[in-house]
Amino acid sequence: MRTKIVAGNWKMNLDVRASQTLAQEISEKIEKLETPNTRIIIAPTFTNLYPVYHHTRLDNRVEIAAQNMHQAKSGAFTGEISAEMLQSIGIKTVILGHSERRQYFNETDTALAEKMLTVLNNNMEAIFCFGEVLEERKAEKHFEVVKGQLSNALFHLSANDFKSIILAYEPVWAIGTGETATPEQAQEIHAFVRKVLADKYGKVVADQVSILYGGSVKASNAKEIFSQPDVDGGLIGGAALIADDFVKIIEGIL
Ligand code: PEP
Repeated sequence: MRTKIVAGNWKMNLDVRASQTLAQEISEKIEKLETPNTRIIIAPTFTNLYPVYHHTRLDNRVEIAAQNMHQAKSGAFTGEISAEMLQSIGIKTVILGHSERRQYFNETDTALAEKMLTVLNNNMEAIFCFGEVLEERKAEKHFEVVKGQLSNALFHLSANDFKSIILAYEPVWAIGTGETATPEQAQEIHAFVRKVLADKYGKVVADQVSILYGGSVKASNAKEIFSQPDVDGGLIGGAALIADDFVKIIEGIL
């Protein structure tokens, strides 16, 4: 059975106090929830990872992830963070390839391919994001674009490596826009991704990888999106910043 996952990407929001408060609120609200086979992940910004992880009383089901990481071990990369630095504070999961990183920071498939190797060499885990922009969707190129992103950044990896990869389909036109892919649109791409993986790595790998949907998931639409057979959870932006909303989204997958 695939693991179900609800992950909150807090982006560049919240100072240290507000991050700790939100993490604690989420933790308290899930205390009464039974969450079998479900992971709950939150991704505060770099400066808040340590205090949220080590100085906030959290239910042990709340996992902490970073939002990005550099591929190099160390060196002259001003403003960047390495895998070793994340490891040194106990962080083992990192979001990679978010469309905002691709769009505003010129993150390329080539860089992502290197980052994936760094993740795996450090026994970490990646939430790998991919998805088409609006023009590509309108031109009906979304399947081609998604396949290209996956093959360019992931297909140098082994089948075994996919045990440490969570995929997140995030159509860029649905991120932070209030416009959500329909459950059918999400399912269509998720099923396609599984087929692409099956063709390359075999059905066992394809069936085992959790594929999350991201893009304006809210308390009101989560359950319907998560009910699709190939949607294993969500990567949540805006709604992850409000404890009640995030917890309702978690309830949508149970
Ligand atoms: C995201 O940034 O990963 C995301 C899905 O954002 P939102 O939920 O706000 O669309």
